[in-house]
Amino acid sequence: MLKGVFPVEKFNTIPTPFYYYDVDLLQETLDFAKTEADKYSFHLHYAVKANANPRILSIISGYGMGADCVSGGEIQAALDAGFPAQKIVFAGVGKADWEINLGLDHDIFCFNIESAAELAIINELATAKGKIASIALRINPEVDAHTHIKITTGMKENKFGINLSMVGQVLEELKTLKNVRLIGIHSHIGSQITDMSAFRNLAIRFNEIQDELEEMGVVVEHINFGGGLGVDYYHPNHIPTPAFDNYFAVFHKLLRIRPGQQVHFEPGRSITAQCGSLISKVLYIKEGEVKKFAILDAGFTELLRPAMYDAYHRMENISNDDPVEIYDVVGPICESSDVFGKDVELNKAHRGDLIALRSAGAYGEVMASQYNCRSLPKAYFSDTL
Ligand SMILES: *Cc1c(COP(=O)(O)O)cnc(C)c1O
Repeated sequence: MLKGVFPVEKFNTIPTPFYYYDVDLLQETLDFAKTEADKYSFHLHYAVKANANPRILSIISGYGMGADCVSGGEIQAALDAGFPAQKIVFAGVGKADWEINLGLDHDIFCFNIESAAELAIINELATAKGKIASIALRINPEVDAHTHIKITTGMKENKFGINLSMVGQVLEELKTLKNVRLIGIHSHIGSQITDMSAFRNLAIRFNEIQDELEEMGVVVEHINFGGGLGVDYYHPNHIPTPAFDNYFAVFHKLLRIRPGQQVHFEPGRSITAQCGSLISKVLYIKEGEVKKFAILDAGFTELLRPAMYDAYHRMENISNDDPVEIYDVVGPICESSDVFGKDVELNKAHRGDLIALRSAGAYGEVMASQYNCRSLPKAYFSDTL
């Protein structure tokens, strides 16, 4: 069984469960993303919600990327980590007044607007400060992302974004608002998208949308395609970096950009997923009538994705190479959804063995909770261990 490379000796001295980040892999991923985007002068804003660990954020900001934030707390975290305010975009369907004011005070690059109601409030708050807020309209392009229903966002009748049929109306309203300036159009159709045809459809749809906008006399300075590029959860050792080359090439090939127009992206998962693992210890092996359970000291309080999205994470026994056996791998939380995987192949597990849950660098540590009065997991880094 091919396994990732982990400093198991050092792990044995650290209380479990904890997150472990491979800094070399993060940097390799960032290099790849940046190189491929730079080929076409595309702009990147890292989606902070995927992983807001301060060390991770500061490594990413070191690559000159911007940040995509969905709360005031994330804006503050991005600023603290060195992301320039002029490269921060702020999205989210429910921006509170204080969050909008924080963005206005720092003159962030752009507010991505999700409703006409929000637009009016941003105009009002900007007026009170004597400022002009730069905004982009988040449009639902009605492109199917072919991904999990709980992470699909670009279809009609979704709480996110503005439906295509209502864009004209919002543009009319914009004309009456003096303290907002339309600089872009935005979309984010979903997450963990591995089928490039969804991105092809998105690029083509945006050509049509741009044509329609132009008929209404609107040409924007930038187009933002959000995030969504998927990673290979099944083969983190063979395919550690996502297909940034194919991804950006699709947009370069299909998109008809207007003169001087910029193209932006907001990758989250694709940047951080593969560099992180949740390291946990086997507490008990419970022999059932037909099943065998490996009970870990980590549960959905540390890694929520399997319980929340039925997500798959590859698991490896990194303590021994005994012949493989089949387990249901579960956590200690008092909920029957606290299961990491059923019929999982692991090298025979014993009490005290370390189990690595792979590809946990995105939507892992950030979603941890203290349910059952547990402590939040700590994070360790390959270069400072
Ligand atoms: C979540 C989110 C992203 C990042 O999505 P990934 O699938 O992690 O790349 C980008 N933009 C917006 C608006 C988001 O909500």
